[in-house]
Amino acid sequence: MNVSPPRYSLVLPIYNEEQVLPRLIERISSLICRLDGEAEAIFVDDGSLDGSVEYLRNVVAVEPRFRLIELSRNFGHQVAITAGMDAAAGDAVIVMDADLQDPPEVVLDLVAKWKEGFEIVYARRVKRQGESWFKRFTASLFYRLLEKMTSVDIPRDVGDFRLVGRKALETFKQMPEHDRFVRGMFAWMGFKQTAVPFERPARTLGQTKYPFWKMMRLAVHGIVSFSEKPLRMALWGGLAISALAVVFGIYAIFAWIFETGIIAGWTSTVVIVSLLCGINLFMTGVVGLYVGGIHAEVKRRPLYVIDRVAGFDKAMRAASE
Ligand code: UDP
Ligand code: MG
Repeated sequence: MNVSPPRYSLVLPIYNEEQVLPRLIERISSLICRLDGEAEAIFVDDGSLDGSVEYLRNVVAVEPRFRLIELSRNFGHQVAITAGMDAAAGDAVIVMDADLQDPPEVVLDLVAKWKEGFEIVYARRVKRQGESWFKRFTASLFYRLLEKMTSVDIPRDVGDFRLVGRKALETFKQMPEHDRFVRGMFAWMGFKQTAVPFERPARTLGQTKYPFWKMMRLAVHGIVSFSEKPLRMALWGGLAISALAVVFGIYAIFAWIFETGIIAGWTSTVVIVSLLCGINLFMTGVVGLYVGGIHAEVKRRPLYVIDRVAGFDKAMRAASE
């Protein structure tokens, strides 16, 4: 093999980003020029339905440092990132959103920290522009809940924009879980970690691919895959309510013995039955989430399916196999 592997790999998940791509390619190209070593940019097409793939194919055909992985369908942001990281050959791998909300220039700061000896450098959003108060509020609620619920220190206000070194990347590759919450997985593995602050600009082109329900799903996955607390809450909540029910039962019996002529309380019956049913259903749901997680893992399916790749050097592909 006479091809020296690149020093830096940029991983960019793409899902229907046709409108942003020309600007993105421009910014990434100028970033690559400013980096102090060889770099590659890996675009992972996550089953885009617009013209993103065609555009990328053309770009990758003429620019030797650009590579393209086309997944066979939409596997979701977290899996697309994983596919890109699996293929990355660099000593440092940088994951960033394709919509320019993660400004390419911040990568230079991440690299500087990496050179100081940090294995994982994440970019922390100190300001979010142009996002609705609702998104900001739910996001901050989520980070705080996550902090309370999990034993792993998952950094606050950190998305998936980060740089990871080779050691961390190899560790990551050994984590086969399907329920992927990438930022949690990096927090879990330890190593020297640090943050670089940046102001997150608004998305200027295209639309967010994270509507509310998708964010909710990511939030629930994040908590379920990093915490057993909801299960324990189910246990203690169930116990506490049972204890209350016993107390109330004793009271009811005494009332029946000493207060003659009492009419059976329809209201209380209805309230208690519906309350207990609700709690029961909720707890079953909590358990179901975990059982569902187990189900997904035991199937042992591959995480993603690649349709085709372009731009990878033959020698490099052989090395990564
Ligand atoms: N993305 C993806 N697959 C999906 C959804 C999103 O690869 O199913 C990509 C998307 O193209 C973008 C990044 O993930 O590069 C983040 O998505 P988005 O900007 O829509 O999320 P937000 O910044 O609004 O949270
Ligand atoms: Mg975005």
